[in-house]
Amino acid sequence: MNAYTVDLVIKNAKLLLESGIVRGGVAVEGERIVAIATDEHLPSADRVIDAETNVLMPGLIDGHAHLHDSSMLEHEDFSSGSMLAASGGVTTVIEMPLSLQVDTVELVRKKVREGEKRSVIDFGLYGGMIRSDNIQNIAVLVEEGVAGFKAFTCEPFYANAGVITRALSEVAAHGAHLTVHCEDQGVLEEFRRDLDGEWDAPVSHALARPALAEQLAIHQTIRIARETGGHLHIAHVTTQQGVTEVAAGKQQGVEVSAEVCPHHLIFDRDEMNRLGPRSKMNPPLRTKRDRAALWAGLLTGAIDIVVSDHAPAPLSEKETSDIRESWAGVDGIQMILRILLSEGVHRARLTLDRVLRVTAVNPARIFGLYPQKGTIAVGADADLVLVDLSREEKMSDDRTLSKSGWTLYDGMRFKGAPVLTINRGRIVYEDGEIAGEKGEGRFQRMGVACLPA
Ligand SMILES: [Zn+2]
Repeated sequence: MNAYTVDLVIKNAKLLLESGIVRGGVAVEGERIVAIATDEHLPSADRVIDAETNVLMPGLIDGHAHLHDSSMLEHEDFSSGSMLAASGGVTTVIEMPLSLQVDTVELVRKKVREGEKRSVIDFGLYGGMIRSDNIQNIAVLVEEGVAGFKAFTCEPFYANAGVITRALSEVAAHGAHLTVHCEDQGVLEEFRRDLDGEWDAPVSHALARPALAEQLAIHQTIRIARETGGHLHIAHVTTQQGVTEVAAGKQQGVEVSAEVCPHHLIFDRDEMNRLGPRSKMNPPLRTKRDRAALWAGLLTGAIDIVVSDHAPAPLSEKETSDIRESWAGVDGIQMILRILLSEGVHRARLTLDRVLRVTAVNPARIFGLYPQKGTIAVGADADLVLVDLSREEKMSDDRTLSKSGWTLYDGMRFKGAPVLTINRGRIVYEDGEIAGEKGEGRFQRMGVACLPA
């Protein structure tokens, strides 16, 4: 027996460590993990949780979510969004601007205050959207702990190749990274004309944003990064060609990482007319072949992380009769782990080790939070999620914690779910209920990225 007593022990778990899966448990004192051991070597604790041989892994880090925009608080906010996140095993979210700019020290500090008042989980902040008039702010924002910046190659925040070039040079000089939404503006402009003709079914949204738009923009942006150096991160890759471009960039030694979203891993564009305008997002749903390429890219390492791009809106803004008027964005922060388990691990498309990499280790590295977050290690933050691989759940509009009041996954069943979520030693989600208090989440400064191996 050990003589000392800690706050919390989770025992009888399968620990998903970077070195493999082992039986045992962890001890938590305050906000940190203080021991990892077989059950008989764990200290005594004020609270002991029996994991019943379920999998214990690091809390997820969602590197791209739109939870809080002061001009759109009817969509989601730090409170509702972070609770929904906790119900999906997410313990850190990197919040990205939606419609309002977050590109000055004042705006960053305002958002930090809003988050620390309302969030139940930890959060980092993206700066953006980068345009020619705010590139010079990158340096001071890095000092504020913002090390990721968002830019678009298309409207509504179009930045041309010159702006992308200058922004990449600037992030390279300050140890930050640039995340780019890659769809070629020229292709989108031209193909959008078709929407003004006879097209009106929901799928026409996808047909008006062809895969070529993504491929051209990714290719060009990687070409620029090869020139400037600096860490380029490709937002939400959706196509087979996109995966190929990223893999080629990595092979050439370009410092490029990439992400994929749960909705692109599970739906394809043939389902858009059935799903209706709820299924509108940018980039849009793609073909079954593209979807298969995303899973393959996730397994082989061409794709580094899975992010939600969570950006729902009230149904009144989604269910419009004209698909052009419908809000582009869906929920998903609660779905990352569920989809990777149900559609990935249970269908032998993904290993548990790969789930660990793409949800925790790699995002922690990309966002400069490693090894404080993203791994189960002594001294690391006690950000943990207990996963029941056999639990079956049916998602529904009635049960979502999202402020928007609906989910794209309404009526769908998933196997494998988080049953307990812990953020810095505090239980924030347990037995299907939110247990955390809003305002306990803390802003996390990003450090310099260390790209996944
Ligand atoms: Zn987004």
